[in-house]
Amino acid sequence: MKNIVILGSTGSIGTQTLDIVRKNNDLRVLALCAGKNVKLLEEQIREFHPALAVMSDEKAAEDLRVRTKDLDITVLSGMEGMLEAVVLDDADIVVTAVVGMIGIRPTIEAIRAGKDIALANKETLVTAGHLIMPLAKEKGVQILPVDSEHSAVFQALHGENTSGIDKLLITASGGPFRGRKREDLEKVTLADTLKHPNWVMGRKITVDSATLVNKGLEVMEAHWLFDVDLEHIQVVVQPQSIIHSMVQFRDGAVMAQLGTPDMRLPIQYALYYPERRFLDGPRLDFTKIREILFDVPDMETFKGLPMAIEAARKGGSMPVVFNASNEEAVQKFLNEEISFLDIYRIIRESMDRHKVINDPSLETILAVEQETREWIESRW
Ligand code: NDP
Repeated sequence: MKNIVILGSTGSIGTQTLDIVRKNNDLRVLALCAGKNVKLLEEQIREFHPALAVMSDEKAAEDLRVRTKDLDITVLSGMEGMLEAVVLDDADIVVTAVVGMIGIRPTIEAIRAGKDIALANKETLVTAGHLIMPLAKEKGVQILPVDSEHSAVFQALHGENTSGIDKLLITASGGPFRGRKREDLEKVTLADTLKHPNWVMGRKITVDSATLVNKGLEVMEAHWLFDVDLEHIQVVVQPQSIIHSMVQFRDGAVMAQLGTPDMRLPIQYALYYPERRFLDGPRLDFTKIREILFDVPDMETFKGLPMAIEAARKGGSMPVVFNASNEEAVQKFLNEEISFLDIYRIIRESMDRHKVINDPSLETILAVEQETREWIESRW
């Protein structure tokens, strides 16, 4: 029996994680944490019987306490609640499926307590990878990727010596606006942006996929996870999302992981690694696919990727500014307060005004995040 804690259980990754739990009989849910969706969290509690539930908001937690008063469960709220959930004595693995860099503190606490991490929450690694990876090594904790591209690389590397890596080839669908030019993006709407061609995901990552910020975050995530220089990570557009990523080795061999676009596969792989379990669902049919297409990313139009690489090269606190400004901008775009291209403008202006702080501590990361958010609030 493996005991799991899920941060963000009501979201896209969270609900698919619970689907894996539902289909297997050796995973036990110890704690579920969510933001505001009281109704769904109540349903999840009644089905999976965790000992602890956490809502980010105290009012929502109070509502949940009333709804679950017939059950033997503790309901906590806020960051303090998440920090208690991740260190529960019996917990083996924490699935980090909250959205945004709010995941940093619980991830660090979980690692300190020796819990393995199934990592979906890429914003955490992008902004605090220099703290998290050495800590995980020190504590003997595994960071198991849930992001499909990183899971693909992880699977391609299985049994390989990482010193044999020449480059990581991170695939990208190109998002809903692939092939469009900058002037075409002036007037795109929120509804257009949320129509991802291949994947059904949460709203924030769907916007990030359209701007190619997501691919930039993934390059940084890959750099930390696999300890590969940015110069040895290449983004390849693969519009059908059949190849989920590849590794090219020093002898020229390329290993790829292919599959249908189903996030339950990387989630299950992370939960059971190194074991492979049966997973239901459609299989690739190569008699129907016939061709697999490739392209280069359009860095002129989709500034999210080159700005992310620039932030990663500058290093220190710049990825924090890149990520925090993107989170703010995407929230404004989701609220329909700004246009699609304003997302790039907000990130650009935020990065331009920032002086890099090298090797930032956790406190500095959180302070830079707050300062960036406040500046954007006052300016936009
Ligand atoms: P969703 O928006 O679908 O879900 C986010 C989850 O986080 C929800 O459970 C939400 O709760 C919870 N949440 C939000 N704010 C807080 C908070 N302050 N405290 C506690 N919980 C909070 O996101 P996704 O599942 O799409 O993405 C989650 C992470 O996984 C992201 O980092 C994303 O980049 C990554 N990822 C996602 C993929 C996907 O296919 N969806 C693929 C690869 C990576 P509530 O709904 O109750 O408010």
